[in-house]
Amino acid sequence: MIAYVGVGANLGDARANVLDALARLAALPGGALLHTSGLYRTAPIDSSGDHYINAVACLETSLDAHALLGALQEIEQAHGRERPYRNAPRTLDLDLLLYGDEVIDTPTLSVPHPRMHERAFVLVPLYEIAPDAVIPGLGLARDFGPQVADQSIYRID
Ligand code: AMP
Repeated sequence: MIAYVGVGANLGDARANVLDALARLAALPGGALLHTSGLYRTAPIDSSGDHYINAVACLETSLDAHALLGALQEIEQAHGRERPYRNAPRTLDLDLLLYGDEVIDTPTLSVPHPRMHERAFVLVPLYEIAPDAVIPGLGLARDFGPQVADQSIYRID
């Protein structure tokens, strides 16, 4: 299965945390890291604190979607993520954006990620590595670009 994962961090050395997360994604069992976007610097949305560093990764994986979510949460926990309050700043946030063309809606997992089409920090890196990515139920990811054009995002490397 091909899956897309959004990576973001805005605490500590955010760039190092994102790069470490990408390395851990590459090391997940039963799969491979196929593509990673560049790193982007973005302003916080629904969150507080410093700017974020964001990226999107494309994985090939044999994990089912819930197992993949569990693996993402283990990577977050390895970075000591704490959740003192909703949308608090975070050392590392991993979101399962797309899992093939599946639509999943369980108490612990919603795929496609329900807010991905509203966020430049997801869409811009996603269509960098997957220009024709389709969000099941919504259509081409790039068609949502104009709606997020007011969100600040700069590629840093
Ligand atoms: P967040 O604070 O944004 O990282 O949200 C984490 C919570 O969202 C976890 O409890 C997950 O079970 C839930 N969740 C639902 N859908 C997803 C998804 N597609 N990717 C990551 N977390 C998800």
